[in-house]
Amino acid sequence: MKQINSIKDMQKLIAEEKRAGKVIGFVPTMGYLHDGHLSLIERAKKESDVIVVSIFVNPLQFGPNEDFDRYPRDLERDEKLALKAGADVLFFPDTKEMYPKESVVTVSVNKRVDALCGESRVGHFDGVATVLTKLFHIVSPDYAYFGLKDAQQVAVIEGLVEDFNFPINVIGCETKREVDGLAMSSRNVYLNDRERQEAVHLNASLIKAEKWLLEGDSGETEQKMIKYLEEHTSGVVDYCKILSYPELLPPTPQSKRLIIAVAVKFSNARLIDNVILDNILCRPESEEETCSVR
Ligand code: AMP
Repeated sequence: MKQINSIKDMQKLIAEEKRAGKVIGFVPTMGYLHDGHLSLIERAKKESDVIVVSIFVNPLQFGPNEDFDRYPRDLERDEKLALKAGADVLFFPDTKEMYPKESVVTVSVNKRVDALCGESRVGHFDGVATVLTKLFHIVSPDYAYFGLKDAQQVAVIEGLVEDFNFPINVIGCETKREVDGLAMSSRNVYLNDRERQEAVHLNASLIKAEKWLLEGDSGETEQKMIKYLEEHTSGVVDYCKILSYPELLPPTPQSKRLIIAVAVKFSNARLIDNVILDNILCRPESEEETCSVR
């Protein structure tokens, strides 16, 4: 596995690989790798010849009161894990390399950010879109792999790639979970023992919400989720929402896909999870239009 920390070297290597006709697969991460990240690398091996994994904790996507400084980092451990999972190149530029001076231009996301994490993390997705615009130019991948655990991020990236005409296939990959159902996340290490046990209820609330929807949502599913999470965790519920996906708007009878999404703040970690429901038949049930899942 090649290890590169300079943008110039990365671009040189990619140019050589492209000249040799290689298909480039890209897995951007913030490091502290876990099985969720590794599943993206394994997925990338299916259609790409050269797998580039980036590790960059992007300051632009952290708010002033968020965890940028204490975000977990362990490059040595990440190197071993990325190599074992089959990465060919590990790209780990530092902040100076990525942002040598104050930016003249940054990317601003206009849609799909008024709800969920975009609402509570103002500017977060502008930071994500800006760093990915840079990384996409540096790595020039044919395929880029993202986890659907961060489904709003995938929705924004699909918009970025389409609107800015990046010749990149965005592949959303399924959420990897611990055996008890907790979505894997680098931030899970912040949970204390009690919170770790409680955190399983995020996934449980999604399973329940799906069932409530199947039984015919009476418009109370979000409230029932909040109540369930308040009863079963010590965390503060940030949101429980059912929206159309990927638009992230209130569902209508025309919505073909829905997302049920949840975010809970524990003492040192804000956790998110979601489920995306396909083949949804929406129909008016009472005076209010509600959606049912089939
Ligand atoms: P991060 O390092 O948190 O920025 O995540 C890097 C990539 O890994 C993103 O595309 C995430 O959506 C993805 N990812 C994080 N956790 C998981 C998970 N549990 N399952 C699948 N993908 C994940």
